[in-house]
Order: sequence, then C-alpha cells, then structure tokens
Amino acid sequence: MEYLADANRYTSMQYRRCGRSGVKLPAISLGLWHNFGGVDTLENSRAMIRRAFDLGITHFDLANNYGPPAGSAEENFGRILKEDLAAYRDEMIISTKAGYYMWPGPYGDWGSKKYLVASLDQSLKRMGLEYVDIFYSHRPDPETPLEETMAALDLVVRQGKALYVGLSNYDANQTKQAVSILKQLGTPLLIHQPRYSILDRWIEDGLQTVLEDEGVGSIAFCPLAQGLLTSKYLTGIPDDSRAAKESSFLKESDITEATVNKVRELNVIAQQRGQSLAQMALAWVLRSGRVTSALIGASRVAQIEENVAALEQLSFNDDELSAIDQVLR
Ligand code: NDP
Repeated sequence: MEYLADANRYTSMQYRRCGRSGVKLPAISLGLWHNFGGVDTLENSRAMIRRAFDLGITHFDLANNYGPPAGSAEENFGRILKEDLAAYRDEMIISTKAGYYMWPGPYGDWGSKKYLVASLDQSLKRMGLEYVDIFYSHRPDPETPLEETMAALDLVVRQGKALYVGLSNYDANQTKQAVSILKQLGTPLLIHQPRYSILDRWIEDGLQTVLEDEGVGSIAFCPLAQGLLTSKYLTGIPDDSRAAKESSFLKESDITEATVNKVRELNVIAQQRGQSLAQMALAWVLRSGRVTSALIGASRVAQIEENVAALEQLSFNDDELSAIDQVLR
C-alpha cells in the first residue's frame, strides 16, 4: 500500500542540536545493523522504517557492511526509500560508514583514501542516493596516517557525496587529533558515534570532554547493549531474540547469571520510575544532554514505539542515578 507519512510526525519527537553545527538530530535514531539485511523479511524492515519516520525519527544510520550479506541493508533501505520515502528525502538524515572489511584485497578495509572513496561510491549506488548526509570513518586505522583518512572525509564532502563527516570508535586522543586535522582542511567534524550504555561508560573517561570542548555532537550506539538492557533476557533466552541467532554479535554466553542479576535490579528501578527497562536505559543515555541522540536497533515495530516513549520521562533524580550506579558496582 502506498505510504503517506503521518501528518503529526513532528509533534512529539525531540530534536537536539548536534554539537556546534546547524543540524539537529532526533533524540532517538534508528540503526540498520541488524534486521534490515537480505536474510530478513523486507516487509518487516519496511514497516519499521515507516513507523519510525511517522514517530519523528528522521535519522537512519547505515554502514557499507550491514546485512547480512554485507551491503544488503543499504540495498533494502534504498528500495524502501525509493518506493515509500522518496518524497521525504529532504526530511531525512541518512548516514553510512566505511572502515570494516568489505571486499577482498588491500583496498577493501580500514582507512585508506582509496577504500573510503570507493566504498562511499558503492554505498550511494546501493541506496540510490546522490549524497549521504553523514559519512563516517567506521574505525581508526593504526597503519594509515590519520591525515589521509581525514583527507578522504574532506574530499567526499568537496565532491558533494556527503554533507557532513563523522568518526566512530576513535578514542579521545585520536578524536582530538582528527578534529584538528579536519579543522585545518575546512571540513569540521560533525559527530562521533561511540558505544555507550548503562553497562559501558568508557566515553565518560575523556572522549565526552573532547567532544564538548570541540563542539562535536555524539550518537550512542548499542544504548540497550544489544537488548541486554531490556526485560527480554530476565527469564531465559527467547527464540526470536538476537542472542538466540547463530551469526549474532550477542552470544548466548554473554547472557551470564551475574549480568542477568544486575539487569533484574535495574528492571526494578525502571518499574519504580514507571518505565520499562529499555525506556530507562535510553533515558539514562540521554539524561544530561551530553549525548545528542540514542541510536537504537529494533527487530519489530512495537520495540520502536516502546523506545520512543522513553522521551516522556528523561530526567532522573540523584537517588535513582546512584541506585543505578550501585547495581553496577
Ligand atoms: P541496541 O542496543 O538498541 O539493541 C537493539 C536490539 O535490542 C534490537 O534489535 C532488539 O533485538 C532489542 N530491542 C530493542 N528494543 C527493545 C525493546 N523495547 N524491548 C526488547 N528488546 C528490544 O542497538 P544495536 O546493537 O542494534 O545497535 C544500534 C545501531 O547502532 C546499529 O543499527 C548501528 O546503526 C549502530 N552501531 C554502530 C556500530 C559502530 O561501530 N559504529 C556498532 C554497532 C552498532 P531482538 O529483538 O532481536 O532481540
């Protein structure tokens, strides 16, 4: 059935300025790492993208290698864009990345200019786009000079293939150096995409300060720790969950008794706040305004609806914050 976006899509979503830039991102963004690939059901992927957009989620995050198979999430997204959302392209922020293994030989991985430029060209073809809004270096490359990787980001902006650039998985020092190189090149760093959740707080130890000092925004990936920070694993591993899937990055062995016990305690705190655990975990990531957007994944429409409703209660009192810290101590 033909898609017509909900006329009320901008009434409840919050939009936050991304660092010191002109662009705002929705507080909740949708990532297409899992559940949008060639192995997944296209109609479910389509339903999730439609519902997300109707809820005011304007930002969709991809990478060259998302699938499986690698590349297929971009292909599916391109198809859905063309069939459903073409009229709304200017209302969307679409990002992609290169940095992990994509094709054989010396030019299909890491951070050379050769790889990044070729990969973005391939991504644009797969998605049927003339440009992406954000192009990321997906990870730092210890063997390529940072100057070369940053020059590649600057180049694609000058070529009109990307409007803004981002870094992912760079530590505080690498980020600081990259910011300075990009500034000299005249293409400021828009955003950093690090992993961040109640269970993984490494960015608080230096990276966030660099980003704030330099006016760079941030978007937190795996804010639900791939589903661990929801109530789904409290009584075992459901058959239709990420941890039950064979090729998954979340292993059954990650669902340890010790972790589940902590999650159980967090679940009680969430209930006392009148939220689901997923909602509290997202509110926690967004709590102080230091993170621009929480980048969720989803396997079904209902999860997106539940997660967006986290925005109804973002603030925490000191007792709640210290109770959460206490659980993890
Ligand atoms: P999350 O931590 O949000 O985990 C998402 C998964 O949790 C869903 O697929 C679903 O899994 C489960 N889930 C989500 N909401 C609920 C809910 N309300 N109740 C119960 N279960 C729920 O993020 P992801 O790990 O998916 O990562 C999000 C995005 O971040 C990616 O799509 C990608 O764009 C980006 N990313 C970037 C990386 C990088 O290196 N830059 C690395 C990893 C991710 P299920 O139902 O299948 O169990």
